[in-house]
Amino acid sequence: MNICFVTSECVPYVKTGGLADVAGALPPALCRASPDVHVKVFLPLYARIPVFDHGFVHADDLGELSARLGDEDIPYHVWYGHLPDSEVEIYLIDCPRFFHRGMLYTDHFDEARRFILLQKAAIEVMQRYAFSPDIVHANDWQTALLPAMLRHAYAWDDRFARTRSVLTIHNLAYQGLTNPHYAYEAGLPVEHALSGGNYHHDGAFSCLRAGLVEADQITTVSPTYASEIQQPHLGCGLDGVLSARRSALTGILNGVDTAHWNPGTDVHLAANYDATDLHGKTICRNALLSEFSLSAPPDVPILAVVSRLADQKGFDLLVPDLEQVLRTRDFRLIVLGSGTPWLEGYFRGLSGLFPDKVAAFIGYDEGLSHRIEAGADAFLMPSRYEPCGLNQMYSMLYGTLPVVHHTGGLADTVTDLHEYPAQGTGFSFHDARPDVMTATLHRAIDTFSQQDIWRAAMQRGMQKDFSWDRAAAAYLDVYRRALDGR
Ligand code: ADP
Repeated sequence: MNICFVTSECVPYVKTGGLADVAGALPPALCRASPDVHVKVFLPLYARIPVFDHGFVHADDLGELSARLGDEDIPYHVWYGHLPDSEVEIYLIDCPRFFHRGMLYTDHFDEARRFILLQKAAIEVMQRYAFSPDIVHANDWQTALLPAMLRHAYAWDDRFARTRSVLTIHNLAYQGLTNPHYAYEAGLPVEHALSGGNYHHDGAFSCLRAGLVEADQITTVSPTYASEIQQPHLGCGLDGVLSARRSALTGILNGVDTAHWNPGTDVHLAANYDATDLHGKTICRNALLSEFSLSAPPDVPILAVVSRLADQKGFDLLVPDLEQVLRTRDFRLIVLGSGTPWLEGYFRGLSGLFPDKVAAFIGYDEGLSHRIEAGADAFLMPSRYEPCGLNQMYSMLYGTLPVVHHTGGLADTVTDLHEYPAQGTGFSFHDARPDVMTATLHRAIDTFSQQDIWRAAMQRGMQKDFSWDRAAAAYLDVYRRALDGR
């Protein structure tokens, strides 16, 4: 099976969010799953990607290419390489005018045009190499026009006659709303992009809506989120089109990159450990306490947060009662995060008020995020919505019990210990209300004193299979469904 995977970001080259993790992990997992899978990944060459350090070579055989966008020919070059330790081919689309802009994503008037170039270039490079993909896999609004482009702009090319498309939604909130003129530049029927057309949404041409209408199959990053986005509450205005396409919509949980997130081998930790021997976790706990100049006897739990401090993450549920809980219960709270100024200020202030109980590091620190996952006892993730979420999975694998709001990927991964005592892996609450969050916090602190119950839950979490191999098998099923009946 030939797969063309087009993305605006990809680990280890460039990352702003979960899409990059999926792009870096899913293609190699697909290749591992089946020897007849071949994947080409297309990605913009942003200024921050050091091509030579990653072993890319200029595709001299292609020379300078150009893509026609409306009435203009845009020149670009192509660089070629492989994802580390894999067969996956990477093609970087090199167009400094479009992709050297300081940030990956901009609010410039031609934002959609930048990614139309990426999508056209991906198709035209495949044409040059006479590569007929069975599947074109698009991701988020930046590449969501591919299904429509294959159906309309490149319908003349027999090479794509048997190609089917899959669109994955990593974040429904970003929809690529733009000027209908760009539908013309992408080679699409402009009337679809105008008011009353099925690519039109919120007074604009919606790249994402075009993808939702035209893709043969649609996926998102957890089963619960797949059903939530069909409802007005979390549908971001696209619940109607998503529920109309529900028979083509599948939720597949992201995997965890266990090369980096495995307490047995993690290079960031003071000691390694696994489910059969938790001694190393105690060493990590003590190391974390001393890193933050805190102390706590073994029967006092350490609660942790590692997060973007954004409204989505639901800290407004925690804030109203947290001071009171800190005054009445004995626990430690360690926070790593950055984002909204009021939340940064709140956690800084809290550590000033409770210097013996709370420590906050405002910033981004990869190594510290690993040390916190390993050293903490429980992890707070009260997200208002969460398409998949990674930290609750890292927490379980590291023997740290997650405390979560029952939504999206959190609902699919964390089993409440009181609702299901024999299967529980953490604590979850249904109603997104501060008093319910607070009650759940108390429940977690109370349960920590029942060490046999707590340890059993830790061990169940540590044995969970969050591998990319499981996710890759599910994506292959979706690809097969897309190819059915061709
Ligand atoms: P989202 O993509 O919505 O931010 P996820 O849970 O899917 O949430 O992924 C967040 C990722 O970013 C995790 O790998 C988490 O460890 C990491 N992360 C978030 N904030 C920080 C931070 N301040 N320092 C280090 N890593 C962070």
